[in-house]
Amino acid sequence: MFGRTRSDRGRQAAVSVRKLIASWPAVRQATTGADRGGMGRAVQSERSATLEPRTDTADAVVGSICPYCAVGCGQRVFVKDGRVTQIEGDPASPVSRGRLCPKGSASKQLVTDSGRISKVRYRRPHGTEWEDLDLDTAMEMIADRVLRTRAETWQEHDAAGGRLRRTMGIASLGGATLDNEENYLMKKLYTALGAIQIENQARI
Ligand code: SF4
Repeated sequence: MFGRTRSDRGRQAAVSVRKLIASWPAVRQATTGADRGGMGRAVQSERSATLEPRTDTADAVVGSICPYCAVGCGQRVFVKDGRVTQIEGDPASPVSRGRLCPKGSASKQLVTDSGRISKVRYRRPHGTEWEDLDLDTAMEMIADRVLRTRAETWQEHDAAGGRLRRTMGIASLGGATLDNEENYLMKKLYTALGAIQIENQARI
């Protein structure tokens, strides 16, 4: 009775060892035949075999342009429950043909990164510290300054009587975290205000 149990245990141990060895990616790669290059199933773990791409479960895919530089690579923005879940290159773009550089590939973090500032930060004239402002207060302050500056600097005509209808007192310098759609709206707004000094690093 005792000997049979010991041999059963020995067989069990041998089976376990064979299973363990057979589960090693290098062994699977060498023995399965179908994936000798180790590019697919042979190197999948149990967990990775059950993973599915975020893009499979998106509610919508929105076409956009990478805001980071003047190349203007096409992007596909995947959205689920109103949140950006993934950004990939757009194969239909004649500029980039589906490719994004590392900055463009990481641009999802511009909207989702936990380190992103999501409050209004204000430093008063001559102030040395930043302070938080509520959005309504900040909007009122901006509107007051825009209206006052526009009124004080408005140019209806030049010295020869030619029509100008502009202000040189308001300018906009955008950065790389402004996306394509935000830049479009900003251009519309500033042009409607009469500002002509409107710039963005992407210059698209
Ligand atoms: S930052 Fe990279 S992905 Fe974005 S437009 Fe420039 S080259 Fe393209």
